Amino acid sequence: MSVDTTPAVLEVRNPADGSLVGTVPVTDATAVNAAAAELRMAQVGWEKLGPDGRAQWLRRWRDWILGHSEELIDLLISETGKVRNDAALEVMASCEFISYYADHAAEYMADEKVKPTGPLSMPKKLTKVFSPHPVVGLITPWNFPITLFLMDAAPALAAGCAILSKSSEETPLACGRMIEGWHEMGAPAVIANVTGLGETGAAVVDAADYVQFTGSTATGRKIGVRCAELLKPYSLELGGKDPAIVLADADLDRTVNGIAWGGLFNSGQVCISIERVYVEEPVYDEFVERLTAKVQGLSQGVAKGNDVGAMVTANQVAIAERHVNEAVAAGARVLTGGKRGAKGNFFAPTVLVDVDHSMTCITEETFGPTIPVMKVADEDEAVRMANDSPYGLSATVWTGDVARGQQVARRLDAGAVNINDAFSNLFAAGLPHNGWKESGVGARLGGKYGMHKYCKVQAVTAPRIPTMANELAWYPYS
Ligand code: NAD
Repeated sequence: MSVDTTPAVLEVRNPADGSLVGTVPVTDATAVNAAAAELRMAQVGWEKLGPDGRAQWLRRWRDWILGHSEELIDLLISETGKVRNDAALEVMASCEFISYYADHAAEYMADEKVKPTGPLSMPKKLTKVFSPHPVVGLITPWNFPITLFLMDAAPALAAGCAILSKSSEETPLACGRMIEGWHEMGAPAVIANVTGLGETGAAVVDAADYVQFTGSTATGRKIGVRCAELLKPYSLELGGKDPAIVLADADLDRTVNGIAWGGLFNSGQVCISIERVYVEEPVYDEFVERLTAKVQGLSQGVAKGNDVGAMVTANQVAIAERHVNEAVAAGARVLTGGKRGAKGNFFAPTVLVDVDHSMTCITEETFGPTIPVMKVADEDEAVRMANDSPYGLSATVWTGDVARGQQVARRLDAGAVNINDAFSNLFAAGLPHNGWKESGVGARLGGKYGMHKYCKVQAVTAPRIPTMANELAWYPYS
């Protein structure tokens, strides 16, 4: 006889000190199915409201979020261990996605006329018509509980979908509060919030009409297999191991600041964190010295004014520690950091050198505040090293010559390349965010694709001139 060991509620603990900050229920498969059925009914009216009507609700929700930003920031800090700046940036950046899709909903949902392509399609009017997938299952991880929900919920809602949200068991509170806000405004009941472990996520996959998953490559693989069995459309935003290339002509002041922030923002728990740095030989020594000094000068803790916060889970601390220890055992040197904190989920901001492509700190996603740096002979070697990874999420290039940076970008296996900057693609809602290689499948966040991904596309043809004479080619028996 098997015993069901699933708890009825999950505790959410503060990563900085282990204190209890809240509990959430575990939603079972029956309740997930019931939520999906209710959403499916509510979605009909939501779709009928049209893009302008939906955009009005989205703008009201953005204003609700901004009006409650202090409450949401406090929740984010207590459940993720982020520093206040990181949490505030998360709330602000997310609202940009709501504004963008509210502003573009009517344009992107409009029918698109298509030009005839030859004599056979010449006598036809050709149109592309977009209609929403009714219920989108949105499964999100713990590193950005608000942003990673809104980056997909905003375009899906604007398109006319309903949302079945399953946030991470580690960080369900801020996202849950934001969804409560939607309902507090009296908006149509097209968002349902379910909480729980992977089993709840699996029930969401089964219940939804379209699945959007953001999380680890391992879980994404399982979801892809299940969606293939169900022949269900899905997209996956997965892990990364993003390289930074520092060319010898780079402005080192900007580069050191940018790479420190790109590697340590949100304690390195960003899918597009800088996780490995390749520096051209002439500036390697100076870069390493300045980066180490910069990182040494940062403060760590969750009290206001700190630079780097905690990590969300103890498991994440263990991964960072393992990657550093394995590298050191194989000959790497820690120039600063390299150790876990005395208590709480802290790992000191770390700079590692003498690393190579046999070490886990270079080959596996660390998702922690560690910056391994390698010397390279030239641009070609940097590109070769950067592309030597199963991942292809994003990359950065640091150079005094933007045109050269753009040339290097074209050689990189990465869905986004930021030149002389970190994260800037994510702060531009009109740009696509999509992982190449094992960093994603079918995933397009941002821009028009980010909304059309949530739509079924129908090809509609009609005679241009409604007489048989024009169409005889198609009616050979008349
Ligand atoms: P995770 O894969 O462990 O969990 C993500 C979500 O999936 C959680 O809500 C979890 O409960 C749920 N889940 C677990 N098993 C499931 C199953 N079998 N079916 C359905 N749902 C299931 O990921 P995580 O550890 O929470 O997040 C960290 C990962 O997310 C990192 O690898 C990071 O790179 C990735 N990430 C990627 C992006 C991107 O845009 N590419 C953005 C942020 C994070």
